[in-house]
Amino acid sequence: MQKQDDGGIDPETRVAHWRRETEGASPERILEWAYQRWGARLALFTSFQADGMVVIDLICRLGLPIPVLTLDTGRLPPETYEHWDRVSRHYGIQIEPVLPDPAAVAEMVRRDGPNLFRVAPELRRECCRVRKVEPFGGAVTRFAAWISGLRRSQSDTRSEIHAVELDRRNDPSGRLVRISPFVDWSLSQVWTYLRRHQVPTHPLYEKGYHSIGCAPCSRPLRPAEDARSTRWWWEGSEHRECGLHFDHQTVSNSRTEVSP
Ligand code: SF4
Repeated sequence: MQKQDDGGIDPETRVAHWRRETEGASPERILEWAYQRWGARLALFTSFQADGMVVIDLICRLGLPIPVLTLDTGRLPPETYEHWDRVSRHYGIQIEPVLPDPAAVAEMVRRDGPNLFRVAPELRRECCRVRKVEPFGGAVTRFAAWISGLRRSQSDTRSEIHAVELDRRNDPSGRLVRISPFVDWSLSQVWTYLRRHQVPTHPLYEKGYHSIGCAPCSRPLRPAEDARSTRWWWEGSEHRECGLHFDHQTVSNSRTEVSP
């Protein structure tokens, strides 16, 4: 697939043009459009949650040979590795692990201990920075564009995202583009798709999880609890993004979607 030349146009103008091109398009059409535009410079990053599984299923159905990558923080639950293996075999695809820098992890653990995230919000963010944000930033900037499973209804912090936008968080120059093909979908639409197409889903959903991340920092939803309390529940209700997609400061008092 040929790279299209966008030289000379400022990033905001380019992305505005692409939004007009994809306005009202189906997720399938957006994925095909993105592959046509970026080819091998386009990647899918997934954590195997429900939203990400829809994207994997769609790109496989469409026959788009888009590389699939996943962040292996080293603290994922065993169920995630089982699911990863199952997804890989089910679709016949290779999934590339994105790993943190071993020296940075060793230094952090030596200095602050293996469970530093329990000690203070700053140390939790440091753990997320070393195990997630830095490796993700290093991997995603190998590409010109990447596909996410982000949706507006997931939380207040995500309510204004677009299907096509610049990822200045990971590349301040404006060269990196994030594609969220079903940004308008509700969680119920996601699960309807998964059931209709018999997509393999993460086994922890069966155990009451709504948001699945690292093992020590995720838990099932308990009766009468807010969904936000299933991640980093020992912290205050603010600052509960890992920093991968959004600033910690933007999430105060935010709402989090609950699986049906
Ligand atoms: S979710 Fe928890 S274990 Fe995983 S990187 Fe963040 S603080 Fe560390």
